[in-house]
Amino acid sequence: MTRTILPGQTIGIIGGGQLGRMMALAAKEAGFKIAVLDPGMDSPTGQVADIQIVAPFNDSDALEELAEVSDVITYEFENIDVDGLRHLTEIAYVPQGAELIGVTQNRIFEKQAIREAGVPVADYIEASTFAELKERVAVLDYPFVVKTARGGYDGKGQQIVKNAEQLAEAEALFQNGECVAEAFIDFTMEISVVIQRNTLGETAILPIGENIHKDHILHQTIVPARVGEETLTKAKKAAKAIAENLQMVGTLAVEMFVLPDGEILVNELAPRPHNSGHYSIEATNISQFHQHIRAICGWPLRKPKLWSFAVMVNVLGEHVAPLTTKIAHYPDWSIHLYGKDEAKHKRKMGHVTILTDDINETLNEIDASGIWPE
Ligand code: AMP
Repeated sequence: MTRTILPGQTIGIIGGGQLGRMMALAAKEAGFKIAVLDPGMDSPTGQVADIQIVAPFNDSDALEELAEVSDVITYEFENIDVDGLRHLTEIAYVPQGAELIGVTQNRIFEKQAIREAGVPVADYIEASTFAELKERVAVLDYPFVVKTARGGYDGKGQQIVKNAEQLAEAEALFQNGECVAEAFIDFTMEISVVIQRNTLGETAILPIGENIHKDHILHQTIVPARVGEETLTKAKKAAKAIAENLQMVGTLAVEMFVLPDGEILVNELAPRPHNSGHYSIEATNISQFHQHIRAICGWPLRKPKLWSFAVMVNVLGEHVAPLTTKIAHYPDWSIHLYGKDEAKHKRKMGHVTILTDDINETLNEIDASGIWPE
């Protein structure tokens, strides 16, 4: 049963990271109250929430407390215990359900769901053990990428195998269970499509960004992606097919590889607002966070419109000090810091969005700032 959630009511968020924080800030503009469940006190979301429940995510008393205080519950990260979330759907209003999380937590289920929607993924095989991998890889050409089915992120839980001698290096991945081995894709670009779907079945797609990774972590998103119109149309159609096939509610980021011939392959799905959509806060008429709140509250979605070209750059732990000392030089940069206490190396601490008429000039300005050395 869908419900309309109104200002003054409370949105519960599982997870206290930056995505929850930006969701909460968007929701608070419209007068919603926020409750957050996170193991840490004063988490990025906790700092802007009305109610903080500080407990492990699988703590059943804490989940019940969240259910009690919330009129609707959403999540900001995907590694939630599916059984706990399923239980929550019985005692609270969780319009996103628990099934999507179950699919995206496992690369094998995820690839199957993408294919079921008629969308291509890289050729792959599944293997439960290293012995099975050795038997089955004959059907793949080198190089290929072995990835754990569960628990990998930002390049963790992956191993590129360039030749038969290197295969042994993938053995350790099986400590975390089943794996997939997929063809290494010589892509020309990585893009992501952030699609949002409300409880009434309406969908909206943000302008598509081009993603540049460094050490497997998103470094920059350039919007619009510098790729042909036909590819963008294919990418949107694919994202819509996946979202509708999964009956997704909320936000789904569909990460894709663009091939030299302009075709696309889907790499993976993230069932939540996505780092590559942060630019939408300044560069569009509806940020991914505002739209996410509309989607779960049963409000009509707004058709996204790009006001300006944009470049988003991530601020990791090592970039915080150089950035903050240079704020005075860059009045046009929108600076977002997430309120995390320790600026650990490689930890996502914030991002910068720059609206621009000239992407190349802005990329040069970012390089010349010296904040993000090669
Ligand atoms: P993932 O954890 O699957 O998102 O992978 C992280 C990054 O590794 C991707 O954004 C790509 O840059 C790279 N990558 C992953 N899978 C492949 C592949 N099959 N071929 C080429 N590059 C890949």
